[in-house]
Amino acid sequence: MPLLSLTPFVDAKIILFKRINEKIGFLSVILIFAKNRVKTQSYMLQLHDLTFIPFISSAEIEESIKKLAQKISVDYKEKIPVFLGVLNGAYQFTAALTQFYPGDCEVEFTKLKSYEGTSSTGTIQSLIGVDNLKGKDVIVVEDIVDTGNTISEIIKILEKEAVASYKIATLCYKPVAYKKSHKIDYIGLEIPNKFIVGYGLDYDGLGRNLPEIYQLK
Ligand code: 5GP
Ligand code: MG
Repeated sequence: MPLLSLTPFVDAKIILFKRINEKIGFLSVILIFAKNRVKTQSYMLQLHDLTFIPFISSAEIEESIKKLAQKISVDYKEKIPVFLGVLNGAYQFTAALTQFYPGDCEVEFTKLKSYEGTSSTGTIQSLIGVDNLKGKDVIVVEDIVDTGNTISEIIKILEKEAVASYKIATLCYKPVAYKKSHKIDYIGLEIPNKFIVGYGLDYDGLGRNLPEIYQLK
């Protein structure tokens, strides 16, 4: 019968199709894997001798800053706060926080140095720009609070300057690394104890200008 005699050909065709399909499937798995690898590698960031990988997107950063600005404006609705940005690290955060702040405010900057390479030295070398703060409601704006050494030095100085009040706002906070008891009033993002760069934070001078945050690979 003609139908029966065709069966071996049909079976052979089906087997052939299956084999081709398996091969194509295997190839496409390899292709997807290779594509993802290239993609991951192209997202990597090389600064000096260190490699960093993406950690927090600019959209997430912006979202957290908007929320902070809103929260601060509720707390300070009867006052005109002075946002005191700590240079260089907090330059991007201070700009964004004050742009999103829906009320009157003043903006000042101070400069300290406490960090070299990827570990905190714990020594504060200099401080400028805090002589006009007497009687003002100051919000210290930090890029990151790590051990808390920097913030406690700033607090000591503000207390000598006879400010009316002070609070601390930080974009990033490493709870595991924090060694001080002073309360951090406004926290944008809580992060693990990892070295990060971007959005104002540098690694030996590089990476500050990036609009997102990267972590050490
Ligand atoms: P702390 O005095 O709290 O240990 O550290 C505060 C300063 O150290 C921050 O203002 C920042 O300049 C620097 N710092 C702390 N952690 C990091 C980090 O993960 N990355 C970078 N780039 N700087 C950090
Ligand atoms: Mg800082």
